[in-house]
Amino acid sequence: MFLLGKKSTILKSDTSQDLTCPKCNAKNTTKVSILAYYKHLIHIPFLSGGKSGTSECGKCKQQYTLSNMPANIKLAYFELKETTKTPIWFFSGLIVIKTLVLIKIFSKYF
Ligand SMILES: [Zn+2]
Repeated sequence: MFLLGKKSTILKSDTSQDLTCPKCNAKNTTKVSILAYYKHLIHIPFLSGGKSGTSECGKCKQQYTLSNMPANIKLAYFELKETTKTPIWFFSGLIVIKTLVLIKIFSKYF
């Protein structure tokens, strides 16, 4: 259904100073990004679908995804992920639904 979908957004990006690109050996050029997936209903995010990561070297444009990421970049990814929180708007749809349900429940008594 077209109203339902899955999207991803970049939560955080960081160019790690002590990362060396495995391809061109350049230092301080690899940008690690934390990607977050969410499911949305009519473009309102309502379910968090987990996090993933990508990296890109600013010099040779070598890109990695989490599945083929070299160990040193993966380490930087996990370090960055530790400091990245899932934003509250990821659950905005869920909060709206819960509020609506609560209003419906309370409207029976008042
Ligand atoms: Zn490179």
